[in-house]
Formats: sequence, C-alpha cells, structure tokens
Amino acid sequence: MSELSAPIELNDGVVMPRIGYGTYKVGDDESQRTVETALELGYRLVDTAEMYGNELGVGRAVAASGLPRDEVFVTTKVWNDHHGRDATRRALEGSLERLGVDYLDLYLIHWPSPKQGLYSETFQAILDAKEEGLVRSAGVSNFLPEHLERVHSETGVWPSVNQIELHPYFNQAETRAWHAEHGIVTESWGPLGQRTGSLLAEEPVTAAAAAHGKSPAQVVIRWHLQHGCAVIPKSARAERIAENLAVFDFELTDEELAAIDGLHTGRRQGIDPGGSER
Ligand code: NAD
Repeated sequence: MSELSAPIELNDGVVMPRIGYGTYKVGDDESQRTVETALELGYRLVDTAEMYGNELGVGRAVAASGLPRDEVFVTTKVWNDHHGRDATRRALEGSLERLGVDYLDLYLIHWPSPKQGLYSETFQAILDAKEEGLVRSAGVSNFLPEHLERVHSETGVWPSVNQIELHPYFNQAETRAWHAEHGIVTESWGPLGQRTGSLLAEEPVTAAAAAHGKSPAQVVIRWHLQHGCAVIPKSARAERIAENLAVFDFELTDEELAAIDGLHTGRRQGIDPGGSER
C-alpha cells in the first residue's frame, strides 16, 4: 500500500505527486490562504489554470511556503482562447509571471476545443517551451482518445497526463485502460463527484469507510489511487484539506473497489469534450 505514496513517473521521466490540491472557483485571496494551508499540511502539487483567475494567489502561496521551488509541483492550463502557437506562448508567459515562477512542472491544454482545430499546434507550442526549459512536462485535459491520437500523429509525442472528469459516478474505465496502454497518466478532476450527487453518502463508500475507520472522502480518494490515477481534490477547509491527504494508511479490498465501481452511471457532470460547447 505504501508505494502509492511515492510519486508517479510520467512518460518523459518527470515525477509527479499522486495527490494534489485543486483550486477551481477559488479567487486570488482565498487561494493564497488555502494553498498555503495545503503546502503546510504536506501537499506538494498545486493545480490551477489561467481560467481560474487565481494564479497570483497560488504563486504567492508557493513563495510564502518557503519551500524550494523544486519541491512544489505547479500545474496550470492554457485556456481555449489562447490556442495556436503564438497565443499559447503569450499565455504561458502570462501564467509564469502571475505565478512568479521561472518554469511550470506541468502545462496542460485545458480543453481540446475541437471546433478551433488548433490543439496539436497548441501542444507543439508547449513542447517547444519544454525544449527551452519553461515547462517540464507537456500534458492535456479533457482530451478524448481521438484527440490524443491526433496530437500524437501530428507531433510525434504522447501527452504525459490527461486530466479528465473522473469519479465513481463516471469512472472512465475504458479511457483509463486506453491511457495506460499509451503510457499516459490519468489525473482525476471533480474526484469527489460532489457537483450533483451525494457520492459520499453512497452505501459502498460509507461501508468501506466504516470498515477501515476512514472518512467517505478518504475512501473515494483511495479508490482513485488504487485505480492508478493521480487526484486533485479541493476543499477550502483546513481539516478537510488534511483529511484528503491522509489516505496512505489503509487499502481497499478488491470487493470494495468493485462495489464502488458499481456506482457508475455513465453520465458526466461536466461538459462533453467532443461536443461543440468548448
Ligand atoms: P472535488 O470533487 O474536489 O469536490 C470539491 C468539493 O468536495 C468541495 O467544494 C467540498 O465541498 C467537497 N469536499 C472536499 N473535501 C471533502 C471532504 N473531505 N469531505 C467532504 N466533502 C469534501 O471537485 P472540483 O473542485 O471540481 O475538482 C477538483 C479540482 O480539479 C479543481 O479544484 C480543479 O483544480 C480541477 N478541475 C479541473 C477541471 C478541468 O477541466 N481540467 C474541471 C474541474 C476541476
């Protein structure tokens, strides 16, 4: 069970913590406070995005932590209106400046935005920035296998990470297997499935929580890890931020994993990346 507390090696040799702190819908001031708390409590990966409008706060927290730069794994994402070689380069420079860092550990394309047809060019811009040392690892988010195939055929490189909606209500079993075959790490967003349902009150989750003396959120985070995913839960509350990291002292059984797998509904809570909305 302890190997899951070790970082995961990406296809380019970069190592990434398996648990990170998510910052969606948290503004600059609150993100500074909550990211400082997360770093104090032991998180070493922070997930933000140009679109979240909180890179300044995240960057201030990283600086205030006093941690050496190479001990914090900083992920951000290029937004849809900055696809294309030059726009992506400018977006990257903006993110670096707001975050107050010289390089990103992981830079993701936030959505494929297929109607623009620029995601391979955008990925190439990230690869170019990687060559220059501005980005350590080049990844994507919300990409379907067809988008990943196209990126690979047009740039010759598989993204290191695909950050996708993933939780027991939408467990992405086929996509996870496809990623594993292609050496791409799956990172789960919305991991606690809290946007619509009451995942944490579902019987397979509460039963496993009772059996292990852990909380329902810890059981769900452990379910992600045992399925080989990196995971970035978010909470603004210090006690929950701590709770969400305390998942390395128990192991779900195969039966518990299967029971939680059975909660799959096949319905996304977020946008369909293949559709026209993004
Ligand atoms: P999440 O599944 O992490 O749920 C967050 C909510 O769960 C919190 O607001 C809180 O109400 C609750 N919660 C957290 N810890 C809890 C605990 N221990 N007990 C009970 N309830 C708890 O959802 P999210 O914030 O949407 O996703 C996590 C992160 O993923 C985001 O912050 C962001 O960084 C990233 N994300 C990425 C994308 C993308 O398109 N790439 C989209 C959405 C989110």
